[in-house]
Amino acid sequence: STPAAIAAGLSAGARRGLLLKGGAVLETAGKITTVCFDKTGTLTAGKPQVTDVIGFAQPQAEVLRLAAALETGSSHPLAKAILDRAAADAIPIPPAEAAQALGGEGVSALVEGREVFLGSPPAAAARAPLTVVQADQIAALNDAGKTVSLLVADGAIAGAIAMRDEPRPDAAEGLAALKREGIRTVMLTGDNRRTAEAIGRQLGIEVRAELLPQDKLRIVGELQREGAVVAKVGDGINDAPALAAADIGIAMGGGTDVALETADAAALHGRVKDVASMIALSRRTMGNIH
Ligand code: ADP
Ligand code: MG
Repeated sequence: STPAAIAAGLSAGARRGLLLKGGAVLETAGKITTVCFDKTGTLTAGKPQVTDVIGFAQPQAEVLRLAAALETGSSHPLAKAILDRAAADAIPIPPAEAAQALGGEGVSALVEGREVFLGSPPAAAARAPLTVVQADQIAALNDAGKTVSLLVADGAIAGAIAMRDEPRPDAAEGLAALKREGIRTVMLTGDNRRTAEAIGRQLGIEVRAELLPQDKLRIVGELQREGAVVAKVGDGINDAPALAAADIGIAMGGGTDVALETADAAALHGRVKDVASMIALSRRTMGNIH
C-alpha cells in the first residue's frame, strides 16, 4: 500500500544516513528542480586553516589575541581555525563580554573594555575606514582562494586573518550527479565574490556571493516564484531562514542544533552526493506509488 511504500522509502534512506521528517518530505524531495548550497561547511570541509595573519594598526599577535577572544563563544567554522592558531602560538586569550554573532557579517564584543569586531571586509569597512592598499592586499588573498576576516579595534582596521577551506572531496562529483538528473545547482554564500568564484569554478556550480542571511532567503523566494521547487542545503549557521523557506531544508553532516530543528531532512554522512541519492530515492518511491 501507499503508506507501506513510504515507510519502506524512509527506512531505506535512514539506512544510508538520509533522515527525512516524514512522508510529505519524501514526496517533495522527488519534485526538486533546484538545489541551493551554503558554501562553508557544506560544499567545503568546513575546516578552514589560518594561512596569513596581518597586522595593520596592531601587531600580529595582538590581532590574533583579540580575534580569539571574539571567537571563544562562536560556533562558526572560522572560529575554530582562529582558536586553533591562537593555541598553536600559545597566545593567552582574554575574556569577551556581550559577545554577539551578527548573521553573515561576523562577531562583536567588548574585550578589556574595548569595542572589537571581526568579520567580512564589507562589514568591517562599514565600521572603520579601509585603505586602498589594504583592499588590494585582501583582493590578492581572495584570488588565492582564501577567505579574509578583518579585525576592527579602537575604531580602526587593526588587522586581517586569511583562512583557506578546501572543498569536500566528493563535492564536484555530487554536483555533477545532480546536474545529470537535470537539477540546477547554486551556491549561496556570505563569503567574498572572488573567493567564492574560485571555488565555484573548481566545483562547477553557479555562484551568488556576498549575501546576508536575508539575501539567501530572498533568492530562495525568487527561484520559487520562477517555478522552481527548491532544496536548500546548509549547516544552519547564518542560513536558518533560507533553510526554513525552501521547499525542503537539508542539514549536512551532524549539523548544528539550529539546522536540525529547522531542517526537513539531514544527510548525516555529510556527502554532497547524498542529496542526489535523496532525490533519486524519492523519485523511485513515488514512482512505485503512482
Ligand atoms: P557562508 O555563507 O560561506 O557560510 P557566512 O554567512 O557564515 O558564510 O559568513 C560570511 C562571512 O562573514 C565570512 O566569510 C566571514 O568573512 C564573516 N564571518 C561570519 N562569521 C564570522 C566569525 N564568527 N568569525 C570571522 N568571520 C566571520
Ligand atoms: Mg554559514
